[in-house]
Amino acid sequence: MTTKEQKKHYSKIADLGCSLCRFVLGYPGTLCEIHHIRRAGKRSNAPVIGLCPEHHRGNTGVHGMGRKAWERQFNITEEILLEKTEDLINATK
Ligand SMILES: [Zn+2]
Ligand SMILES: [Zn+2]
Repeated sequence: MTTKEQKKHYSKIADLGCSLCRFVLGYPGTLCEIHHIRRAGKRSNAPVIGLCPEHHRGNTGVHGMGRKAWERQFNITEEILLEKTEDLINATK
């Protein structure tokens, strides 16, 4: 992706709001930050999802709790949130 495309993609992610609030808790459009999903490979190519400050860095956040505990707590994985986010973006193109 070029930087321009990436910016556009990020703004779409941001428009959807926190993916955990939306898909797990049922509150779409929460103000969110961009969270990179760590996989093998370069961080600059890492896929991203939106997470609100609490679910990103707070006491119930993926960085606050650690990914494994966080996924267990909400009974979901980053990969599933990513899939749902991308489905939604593709559906609204
Ligand atoms: Zn949230
Ligand atoms: Zn993050």
